[in-house]
Amino acid sequence: MHFIAIVGTNAKFSYNRILLRFIKNHFSDKATIEVCEIKDIPMFNENVPETDPKSVQQITAKIENSDGVIIGCPEHNHSVPSPLKSVIEWLSYRVHPLNNKPVMIVGASYHPQGSSRAQLHLRQILDTPGVNAKVLPGNEFLLGNVKEAFDDNGVIKDQQTIKFLEDCFNEFLTFVEAHQNALASNKGTQHEDGGVRWDKAYDVLVLGFGAAGATAARFAADKGAKVLLVDAAPEGHEGGNTRYAGQVVLTGYDYDKMMAYFKQLFGPIEIDEKILSVYVDGIVHMTEYFQKHLGVEQPVSYNRIHRDPDYQAFANGLSPEYPEFEGADTVDLTTVHDGYFDASLWKNLRKQVTDRGKQIDVWFASPAKHLIQDPVSKAVLGVQIQRGDSLVNIRARNGVVLATGGFENNQHYIQTFIGVPKLKVIGTLYNKGDGIQMAQEAGAAFWHMKSYEGYGFNTSFTFENSEEERGKFILDPWADLSHGSIFVAADDGSRYLREDEHGRHGHIYEHGSWHNPTVYEHPHLIFDEAQYNKIGKQKLPYPKFFDITIKADTLTELAAKIKADPVILEKTVKDFNEAAEKGVDAIFGRSADSMQPFGNGPFYATPLATAMLNTQGGAQRNEKAEVISASGAPIPHLYSAGEFGGINANQYNGGGNLAECLIFGKIAGENAALPKSDKSSVALEDDAPTATADFAIASDLQTASSDEIKLGENQYLGRSNAGIGGEILVRITVDEQQNLRDVEILKQSESGDVSAEALEKIPREMVTHNTYEVDAVSGASATSRGLKAAVKDALSQIEAKN
Ligand SMILES: Cc1cc2nc3c(=O)[nH]c(=O)nc-3n(C[C@H](O)[C@H](O)[C@H](O)COP(=O)(O)OP(=O)(O)OC[C@H]3O[C@@H](n4cnc5c(N)ncnc54)[C@H](O)[C@@H]3O)c2cc1C
Repeated sequence: MHFIAIVGTNAKFSYNRILLRFIKNHFSDKATIEVCEIKDIPMFNENVPETDPKSVQQITAKIENSDGVIIGCPEHNHSVPSPLKSVIEWLSYRVHPLNNKPVMIVGASYHPQGSSRAQLHLRQILDTPGVNAKVLPGNEFLLGNVKEAFDDNGVIKDQQTIKFLEDCFNEFLTFVEAHQNALASNKGTQHEDGGVRWDKAYDVLVLGFGAAGATAARFAADKGAKVLLVDAAPEGHEGGNTRYAGQVVLTGYDYDKMMAYFKQLFGPIEIDEKILSVYVDGIVHMTEYFQKHLGVEQPVSYNRIHRDPDYQAFANGLSPEYPEFEGADTVDLTTVHDGYFDASLWKNLRKQVTDRGKQIDVWFASPAKHLIQDPVSKAVLGVQIQRGDSLVNIRARNGVVLATGGFENNQHYIQTFIGVPKLKVIGTLYNKGDGIQMAQEAGAAFWHMKSYEGYGFNTSFTFENSEEERGKFILDPWADLSHGSIFVAADDGSRYLREDEHGRHGHIYEHGSWHNPTVYEHPHLIFDEAQYNKIGKQKLPYPKFFDITIKADTLTELAAKIKADPVILEKTVKDFNEAAEKGVDAIFGRSADSMQPFGNGPFYATPLATAMLNTQGGAQRNEKAEVISASGAPIPHLYSAGEFGGINANQYNGGGNLAECLIFGKIAGENAALPKSDKSSVALEDDAPTATADFAIASDLQTASSDEIKLGENQYLGRSNAGIGGEILVRITVDEQQNLRDVEILKQSESGDVSAEALEKIPREMVTHNTYEVDAVSGASATSRGLKAAVKDALSQIEAKN
C-alpha cells in the first residue's frame, strides 16, 4: 500500500506534521507513506488561467497514484484551517483526485479535544459531491494536549494512544482493501468472462478536437458512421494548437517538384515513399480540397495575392521557406480568406462538425486515458475516457482515431524525446502527449520525435513566465531586441547565436543546414542603458517587458542576479564591443550595423524562454493513416492524424502541419468508418452498453437554437462568427427609447484565457456607453470583434422592425 499524508497547515512548526511523521515511521512495514506539505500551494483562486498551479498538479498526481490519503488536520477557530480548506478547493475545481479515494483523518491539538470539531467539519467537506472522498468511518484519532504527547524523537509517549492509533490504521488498511476489491468487481473494465463492460458504443471514436480530429470526425460521419469526438479541454479551449495557428496551409502545384522539395527538407531522415507521396499529392490538390470539402469558393493563394515583401511580415519567408531547394518555386500557402491568425480555418473545421451534430457527439473536458485492445489480435476495441468523475469504456465498432496533438506541454517528454531542458508552450496547454502514452501502451512504433518547430523574436524566443501560462507569441520582428547594444546570453553569460538571424520556424543556420538552436535553462537578453532607453520609446509588443527586466550597476552584479558567470559575462561584453567597433562579428556573423558597443552601466537582463510552436513525430502512421506497431504491422482499427505522429521531420516549411491535418484527417476518418469483419477474442456480442450509464452521455455541443430561447419584450437575438471559437449568440435588452440596457452572452466558445476579459468587459462597456462600438480588449481582438458584430446584428433587428 502507498499512502499520501497531507500536513493540513502551512505553519513552519506543526504537531500534526510530527504526528504524520510518526505514523510514517511506525507503520513502515505495512505501507509506504509520503508526507506532503501544502505550504507552497497558493490560496485557491478560480480565475487562474487555463491550468492549475504546478504545486496543485504535483499533489494531484501524488494523490492519484496513491492507494489512500491520510490528512493531519489541525483546528483553527473550531474548524478546518484555511490553507487545508483552500487545497481541497483546488482539488475539487478542475481536478478531482480525491474522488472515490479512501481517506483517514487524524489530528493533534493543544487542547484536550484534539481537533474534534475540525475533524467533523473536514468529514463534511470531504463528503461533498465535488470532492466525494471515501472517508474511513468512526476511528477518530484525536491527539489532545499535544505539547506533552511526543518525546524528543517525535515518538508518541503513551502506549495506549499508540495502540489506539494502530487499531485505527489497521481499520484503514482493511477499508482500503475492501474499497479496491469493490472497485475491481463493480467498475472494472473486464467482465468476469473476460469480456469488456461497455458504457456506450459508437462506430468511430476520435480523440482530440483540433484540425485533425474535426476533419476525421466529419469524414467518418460522411461515410455514415456514428461518431464520438472527445477533447481533454473544456469547451472554449478545444481546438488545440489549430485555434492559435496562423491558419496557413501548405500548397504546391507540381507533384514532382514538391516531392523533390520535401526530400531535401526532411533529409537525411528518410520518410517512406508511399506516405510521402500521399502527403504531397494532398498538398498539390489543396485548392480543390478547400473548394470541395470546406466550401471555400475562392481560396486565397499567398503567392498570387500577396507577393509583396512589405505585406504581413510573418508570411515573408514562409512561401517558400527554403527558396534554395529544388522545387521551391511550386510552394504556396492557402487560406480560407485574406487574413491570418484569426482562427478562420479552425472555425470552418469546427462548423463542419457542428453541422453534423446528429451524427457526431462531442464531449468536452473528457480526456481519453487508455486504448482498450483485444488481448490476442491487439485490435483496438474502444477507449477508456474520463467523463466527469467516472472512467467510462466506450466501444468503437469500426475504429479509433488518435488526433490528440503533440506533447508541447509535457516537460518530461520534452526532456526525454527532444533532449532539451525546457521549451515554452505558445499554443494550447492541453497537448500533454496523452496520445503518446496511449500509443506506447498499444505497442506503436515511433518516428523523428526530436523534430519540433519554434517561432519568435531573435529566431525563437519569448519571455519567461509561469509554467501554468502560455508564452506570449511575438510574431513580428522586434528590432530593438536584436539591433544595438544588446545580445542574447546563455546560462553562463556567453553568446550562442546570431541575434539578427531571420530563423526558419525557429531553426538557425549552422554549418550547412538549419537546426533548432541549443536550448538553455535561463537565457537572458543583456543590454545597456542606451538600449533600455531606446526600447522604452516604443509601444511594447510585450507590456510586461520592463517589469521582468533586472537592473545592476555592474556586469559582475548583473551576472550574480541572473546566475551567470561574471568572468564570462564581462568577457562576452568585451568581445561584443570589439566586434561592434571593428564591424565584424567573426563568430556568429551578426550584421555589423546591428551592433553598438555597450556603455559603462547600469546594465540590464531580461529573462527569455525558447518558444515551442509544436512537436513533430510521435507514433508512426502509414499512407492509410493506420498506426504502425513496433513490429511494422498496423495496429488493427487504430488510425491517427495531424500533429500526433506528424510526418514533418528535420527542416519544415510553414503550413505543412495544417496540410497534414486535412489530408490525413480525411484518410483516417474514412478508413476508421469502414466496417471491420475481423473476429475478436473477447466477448463482444454486447456492442450495446452493459454498464449502468451513471455519467452524462449526451453531446456537450451547445445546441441553443433561436426557437428554444425565450425573448421578452424589447429583447433581441444577435449572432456572429467573427470570434475565435465559432458562433457567438447574444440577447440584448433595450428600453422604450431603445437604449441598450443589457447584453447577455448565450453561447460562445472563445478561448478561456485571452478572451475572458473581453467577454466580461465588452458587454458592460456597451451598456454603459449605449453602443456596440466600444474599444477592443487588447490581446482579444477576435473575441471583441465577434461580440461587437453579434450585438450589432441584434440592434439591426430593431431597425428592421421599425
Ligand atoms: C502559434 C502557432 C501558429 C501556428 N501556425 C501554423 C500555421 O499557420 N500553419 C500550419 O500548418 N501550422 C501551424 N502551427 C502548427 C499547427 O497549429 C498544429 O500542428 C496543428 O494545429 C495541429 O493540429 P492537430 O489537430 O493535430 O492538434 P491540435 O489542434 O493541437 O488538437 C489536439 C487536441 O487534442 C486534445 N487532447 C489532448 N490530449 C487529449 C486526450 N487525452 N483526450 C482527448 N483530447 C485530447 C487537445 O485538447 C487538443 O484540442 C502553428 C502552431 C502554433 C502554436
